[in-house]
Amino acid sequence: MHTMNPNRPPFRIGLGYDSHRLGNGGPLRIAAIDIDAEVHAIGHSDADVLLHALTDACLGAVAAPDIGRLFPDNADENRDRDSRDFLAEAVHRVRHAGYRILNVDAVILAERPKMSPHIDAMRQTMAGLLDVEIDQIGLKAKTGELVGPIGSGAAIAARVAVMLGSTATT
Ligand code: MG
Repeated sequence: MHTMNPNRPPFRIGLGYDSHRLGNGGPLRIAAIDIDAEVHAIGHSDADVLLHALTDACLGAVAAPDIGRLFPDNADENRDRDSRDFLAEAVHRVRHAGYRILNVDAVILAERPKMSPHIDAMRQTMAGLLDVEIDQIGLKAKTGELVGPIGSGAAIAARVAVMLGSTATT
């Protein structure tokens, strides 16, 4: 019989959110995929809104500092940086804390371009980066219904939830 350590709960959840301004001219990088689009996301790194939100969800789940504290956007080393680097650090921290990723659910908020042709490729990429199966990654896209900065096409955002399970055996 084992007792549960309240500091090592069997499950933990994480929540991530990110947004970026959009500028004219593609491609638009989402989940490390360069989508042929008329817009691109503006940012200090590669401005991958979905990987940024996913990174923050993983970091938050283990109560680690957020992406902005680990990878400041005024640091030269992070200029145009591949966001897969940020996610790799977050995944490392999840594992170091004694957890594994059980599932992810995410939503992209953007008026354009049409995301549906790319959703499964994004899921596959995210699954690969997290070392899980594609059926552990939920992803959908919503438009802003022409309302606000998302709806006007001025910005893109992403929300991500992640569930972790403890890898402790005792
Ligand atoms: Mg960002």
